[in-house]
Amino acid sequence: PEAITVQELANRMAEKGADLVKALFKMGMAVTVNQTIDQDTAELLVTEFGHNIRRVSDADVEQDLDTTEDREEDLQPRAPVVAVMGHVDHGKTSLLDALRGSGVAGGEAGGITQHIGAYQVTMKDKSKITFLDTPGHEAFTEMRARGADVTDIVILVVAADDGLMPQTIEAINHCKAANVPMIVAINKVDKEDANPQRVRERLLEHEVIVEEMSGDVQDVEVSALKKTGLDDLIDKIQLQAELLELKANPDRAAEGAVIEAKLDKGRGPVATILINRGTLNVGDVFVVGAESGKVRAMLDDKGRQVKKAGPSMPVEVLGLSGAPMAGDRLQVVDNETKAREIAEYRKGVIHQKRTAQAPASLESMFSAMK
Ligand code: GDP
Ligand code: MG
Repeated sequence: PEAITVQELANRMAEKGADLVKALFKMGMAVTVNQTIDQDTAELLVTEFGHNIRRVSDADVEQDLDTTEDREEDLQPRAPVVAVMGHVDHGKTSLLDALRGSGVAGGEAGGITQHIGAYQVTMKDKSKITFLDTPGHEAFTEMRARGADVTDIVILVVAADDGLMPQTIEAINHCKAANVPMIVAINKVDKEDANPQRVRERLLEHEVIVEEMSGDVQDVEVSALKKTGLDDLIDKIQLQAELLELKANPDRAAEGAVIEAKLDKGRGPVATILINRGTLNVGDVFVVGAESGKVRAMLDDKGRQVKKAGPSMPVEVLGLSGAPMAGDRLQVVDNETKAREIAEYRKGVIHQKRTAQAPASLESMFSAMK
């Protein structure tokens, strides 16, 4: 038997605790807001207040989420989202740092760059590229499995001295499975024992045929250390992005994906969200996985407060009920009651899955209220 305090139930119903106490009194029960009531009583109260327990299936949830396709004429170009993958120590982080420095933002004083797992670089021609700080390959697969396919292009970093290694091959397989175009960055070409040609040949064995070998996978020799080949790499990213014709509708309720989330001591639950479409504003109400919230504040990748975030922009969002999981989708909804209901429904589903029960939907709804 599930129990819930009167106040908690009131919160869920968006009613005043005192009104519930009054109703209970009329029903012959003298309780305070802090006392618990059983499930039958809670159900009675819910009915009494005319609340239907609507969220009984995924279909109900979908109804309240605006999942409509955007019309072609509402679409506008958006920045490509680029993930860097490759074997450990082949220079992923170094390359990202170097690329970051090659943007106009790199020249900014202070260098108080906050680490939010994703950042956007404004190039010299004013175009933007969003980089995802290497999620482990596991995270990449997980996010893909959960439908949050956010990466448009993968830069496969291969050290020219080391050549193809297990994680290189893993990354190639991920890209193929996800059908994400790859650009091969042959790194560390400054090293004496660098052998870029050997890398290209070994790639053939994995059916990655680079341009130098008359294939259609772009490749570029770089040195993250000496900062050579970077402009070339950026050109290739932009060329690839053009081919993909990346677009999104910025004028709609925002949708995004959780890149990472954590419970911050001072700030509470915080999530880095990559906006896929629409624009997220401070004050927007949303549901994200099995959590809900209202955007209290947003920070960009440099830790600056922003009021809105459009497609392909990564932002840190404050104001969540709890920490969601990487790969969870964020969707803006009309009001907080709806957001809470959807989150609670999803929690119920998660709860059901975990306990492997098949309870009636109403029961699961109440168990989710605990
Ligand atoms: P990650 O594990 O793939 O992120 O690799 P890191 O960026 O941490 O680099 C691993 C090591 O390789 C570090 O010691 C870097 O300084 C070094 N490194 C990265 N890029 C280059 C390069 O272009 N040339 C040389 N010589 N060393 C590099
Ligand atoms: Mg690294």
